[in-house]
Amino acid sequence: MKLLEGKNVIITGASRGIGKGIAEIFADQGANVAFTYSSSEGPALELEKELTSKGVKAKAYKSNAASFEEAEALIAQVLEEFEGIDVLINNAGITKDNLLMRMSESDFDAVIEINLKSIFNMTKAVQRTMLKQRKGSIINMSSVVGVKGNAGQANYAASKAGMIGFTKSVALELGSRNIRCNAIAPGFIETEMTAQLDEKVVQGWRDAIPLKRGGTPEDVANACLFLASDLSAYVTGQVLNVDGGMLT
Ligand code: NAP
Repeated sequence: MKLLEGKNVIITGASRGIGKGIAEIFADQGANVAFTYSSSEGPALELEKELTSKGVKAKAYKSNAASFEEAEALIAQVLEEFEGIDVLINNAGITKDNLLMRMSESDFDAVIEINLKSIFNMTKAVQRTMLKQRKGSIINMSSVVGVKGNAGQANYAASKAGMIGFTKSVALELGSRNIRCNAIAPGFIETEMTAQLDEKVVQGWRDAIPLKRGGTPEDVANACLFLASDLSAYVTGQVLNVDGGMLT
């Protein structure tokens, strides 16, 4: 029996990287997958095809996670095409790194809007459906940086720490309706987001990680699979580090 057979899932930012890895593993486990992208239309349509070929329903939607109105419209559209929403994964995110001294107001605002405000938008939009169903799992993609901070990432760290507070509050509010809300805190995961970094610096990070390698989208996707499935039926309000032991 597949772990997500017949479940309807929505993932933000799945045109590449971690989101794409989640979409693929979820489809392998029988989930119907609605997912969003911001500008990568080609890769998103390719992924839609790939997922559909696995025998599940899949659809790509262009939607800006930072927009409250677009999130409302997106969920209305998804509900017309999928029967309910069992799992929401708030994965879309960006970085705009700089030392605080050089960080512009617009770079601070953009990161907070796309990484943090987006999870308010999406959670508000799916809440009604999950309340009616009396079940649901919400997973927010935070970061180890939200737990420990990072020089040059004050905006990103603030957004990711905010996600953790939001996650715990939603878990408290919606637990009595059988709606669970958890966060994942990935460490260093090798995707396009981290591909621009200097290779020497990156090798230093790999060496400092107890498991001696960077993570893969699949490593994070498997943790999402646990939190999305009934295997975690008694787990809510938690932050699961997927970091090769980085924070140990
Ligand atoms: P990525 O490769 O840069 O992919 C980001 C995804 O988010 C893309 O699908 C992108 O769509 C989408 N996106 C960006 N802005 C959006 C918006 N305004 N509305 C909707 N979608 C938007 O990043 P990643 O490494 O897979 O990271 C995914 C998540 O994990 C992020 O929240 C990130 O902060 C978190 N994370 C990553 C790491 C890491 O080491 N990689 C570590 C900890 C946490 P387009 O392709 O259309 O631009």
